[in-house]
Formats: sequence, structure tokens, C-alpha cells
Amino acid sequence: MSERWKVVIIGGGFGGLSAAQRLNSNLVDVTVIDRRNYHLFQPLLYQVATGSLSAGEVASPLRSVLSRQKNTRVWLGTVVDIDPDSKRVFLADGAIVPYDSLIVAAGSQTSYFGRNEWQEWAPGMKSVEEATAIRHKILYAFEVAERLSDPVQRRAWLTFVIVGAGPTGVELSGAIAEIARQTLKNDFRSIKPEEAQIILLDGAPRALMPFPQDLAEKATRSLAKLGVEVRCGAMVKNVDKDGLTIDSGGRTDSIAAKTVVWAGGITASPLGKIVASHAKAETDKGGRVKVKPDLTIPSYPDIYVVGDLASATDEKGKPLPGVAQVAMQGGAYAAKAILRKVKGHSELPPFRYFDKGSLAVIGRAAAVADVFGLHISGLLAWLVWAFIHVTYLVSFQSRILVFIQWAIQDLTFNRGARLITGAAPTDFNFSRELSEIKRAPVNVPR
Ligand SMILES: Cc1cc2nc3c(=O)[nH]c(=O)nc-3n(C[C@H](O)[C@H](O)[C@H](O)COP(=O)(O)OP(=O)(O)OC[C@H]3O[C@@H](n4cnc5c(N)ncnc54)[C@H](O)[C@@H]3O)c2cc1C
Repeated sequence: MSERWKVVIIGGGFGGLSAAQRLNSNLVDVTVIDRRNYHLFQPLLYQVATGSLSAGEVASPLRSVLSRQKNTRVWLGTVVDIDPDSKRVFLADGAIVPYDSLIVAAGSQTSYFGRNEWQEWAPGMKSVEEATAIRHKILYAFEVAERLSDPVQRRAWLTFVIVGAGPTGVELSGAIAEIARQTLKNDFRSIKPEEAQIILLDGAPRALMPFPQDLAEKATRSLAKLGVEVRCGAMVKNVDKDGLTIDSGGRTDSIAAKTVVWAGGITASPLGKIVASHAKAETDKGGRVKVKPDLTIPSYPDIYVVGDLASATDEKGKPLPGVAQVAMQGGAYAAKAILRKVKGHSELPPFRYFDKGSLAVIGRAAAVADVFGLHISGLLAWLVWAFIHVTYLVSFQSRILVFIQWAIQDLTFNRGARLITGAAPTDFNFSRELSEIKRAPVNVPR
């Protein structure tokens, strides 16, 4: 039996992996537990959803990422409970894992603000499965439209609505516009893909709220050039198989759209509430666990909560955003704090988030970036965005593959991962739609 200090990390995302990599020391035994066997680079998921990249290029097996770290083992399993008093973690398969220090980095999930039934018609984009399903949905819409002759139905199939004009919504709508206007331009006979309507909705007064106003305006203008209609101040009231109902300043409108994607918000992993209830900690309204300035839970100095699951503030009391850098820096801080404790060194000063800025890509060679307070846009911002994203991809192989894919795509406008694979996901009810199409007149090419 090892006498070394046992560190258990729940979640191999940005926060958990960053912690694990910094715990590469023969002073500790590390166990990383994740319900998936891979680390997912979520910022590029929209490229999986829009056929630029395949899933394997944005996900790396955790076991291989950590294979050289001999003090670290990876367990595939879902954590369902913890007991902070006996210091044990419980898995869904019945396994019990003891710890001396625990890092909880279980992330977040899509929030439909209490209207989970909308998920059936407006999938979110938090997993490879969802991104692949969205790709399916987008490409399928063009296929269905090609076979319809009724202009009203065809219009609904060629209308794409993205709810949420944060960076993900901006990136996704720009990419769908490029698919319609460039990638698929010559591929259909009955429809003109470039006539597709792409609408980006948000309840906020402008797109990209976390960005400075001038950059948000530039992004909105770039999206308009690509053919994306940005509608702000629009609250979604309902989503169903035929589209959405929105409220814009008291006026109710319906949008007939067969493809709706939800980029509207996130809420903490349910594990947050479980951890908080056992450790008598508080959660914020998004279900995130309120942590002390050293990222531990009050009364339990051996439990760290980092990343999207933590409700932490900066030195002025402003909540830290749910972004990859916060998670990575939080994970690194927790690892450092644990190693200092094991070595018997003094405690670290409170966690300080170092904000390197925000980036959002709009389309081919276009982006906006706020880097260290410097506002840049266009090609330069895109180069910064591309450099950062390739650098932060976990595996060297992915970096090379992604770089090659982008180069090919920029030269040819082609998107390699355009296959509609697998069965139609049940949540889209395509079979129902297809039965309607069978009854509709078929376009016979002359
Ligand atoms: C589409 C999209 C685009 C984004 N774009 C950007 C961007 O451009 N820039 C940026 O900075 N941020 C971006 N983000 C946000 C960023 O990805 C998150 O802030 C970051 O992933 C948070 O890291 P985390 O470690 O807290 O959680 P995650 O990276 O989500 O990792 C959580 C891990 O915990 C595992 N897990 C969850 N529950 C359990 C359980 N019960 N048992 C076992 N394992 C569990 C999950 O499988 C997952 O691997 C984006 C997010 C999304 C969804």
C-alpha cells in the first residue's frame, strides 16, 4: 500500500487536466475520474458541428495524455456522491475512492432556464455527441429542402436559428453562413443554399456582451456581411418542431425554422449541489459552489472546486467567468497548493485570475479579440485566435491535424467532415418529418 498523499480529481476537462499535469510529482498519488475517456476541447466543438473538424481532432484520450505521468491513474466512471467527513468519493458503479485532497472540476451543462423540453428541438453544444447531432441536423436540413417543392416548407428547412449571441453563437452562426454561401454553393440542384436564412438571437441588447462595445459592433457587422441576421433584445418564449416564438420588446413573433441550436446558457454540473449539500457550502443561482479565495470549500480545506463548477470572485468581488483560462489557472493553483501542503510549506496567497483577454471568430480569416486590453479585429485577430487554439489543443497530433484541416479549408472552402453518419438522432424526429415529405410533391428534375 502506498503511503503517499492521495489526490482525487473529478473531471478531466480544462480544470482537472491542468491540475493533474501539475501534480506530476512522486510526493502524491493522483486519480483522475471522468465519465468520458477523453479530454474535450470545447472551444472548437462548433467546428465539429459545422463539418470543419472531426470529433477525434478536438478530443484526446485522457489515458494517453497522462500516460507518461507514472504517479497518475485514470478511471472511467461517473461520480455520484462524496462524503467529505470520511473523505471518500462514490462512483455510479459502486466503487469507492478515498482521498486526502479532492479537486472537483466537473464543469457545467446546457441550461434551458427551466424549459428542458426545448432540448428536443434545440440541442445544446456541450459534448461531441451533441456537436455531431447538430452537424447532422444542419446538413440534413439542406437535404430535406432539396426534396421539397412547397416554398413555405422549404423556407422553414432553410432557416437556421442560433439562440445565444455569446462567442459560441457568433462562431456557430458565422460557420453556418459560410457552409450555405460557400461550401454547399454548387452542390444542390433544386435549392440555392446561399438563400438560407441564418438568425442569431439574444435577449441581451447586443451580441458578445462580455466583449467591449466596439468589438461587438465589428463582429455584428462582419456577421451581417456573411448574411447572418443578428436580433438582440429577443426573448425566446417557446421552441417546438416548427420553430420558435420570441418576444421582442412586448411584440410576439414566430419564426418557422426546422433547425434551432441552443447556445443560450449554462448551469453547473449537478455534482455541485451534491458536494455543497454534504459540505454545507452555498451555491449561487447557477448551481456553482461558492468557494473561498483559495478555491476551497469553507470548513473543508482539503476540497478544492475549480472551473465552471466554482463560484469564485476576483479581488474586487467580481465573479470569474466560465472560461477555459479560469479553469486551467484554478486547477494549476489547486495542484500547487496541495503540493505545498504535502511538502509542509506555508499556504499560498489567494487565487488570482490572470485575464489574458477574450476572442471570438466570425468566419474565414475574421475574428475579434480583446487581448490585454488591446482591441483587434479581422485577419490579425483571426491569426491570434488560430495560434492560441492550436497551442492549447492537448495532443501534438491534434495540433498538426487541425492546422492542416484549416489550411485546406481556407484554400478550398471545403469542409472535410461533412458526412451525415449514424442513425438520425431520436430527438430530431426526422422520421416524422420524412413521412411528411413523402406525402409532399416531389421535385422531379427536368
Ligand atoms: C461550445 C463551447 C465553446 C466554448 N468556447 C470557449 C472559448 O472559446 N474560450 C474559453 O475560454 N472557453 C470556452 N468555453 C468554456 C470552456 O470550455 C469551459 O469554461 C471549460 O471547459 C471549463 O472547464 P472545467 O474543467 O470546469 O469543465 P469541463 O472542461 O467541462 O470538464 C468537466 C469534466 O468533468 C467530467 N464530469 C462531469 N461530471 C462528472 C461526474 N459526475 N463524474 C465524472 N466526471 C464528470 C466531464 O466529463 C468533463 O470531462 C466554451 C464552452 C463550450 C461548451
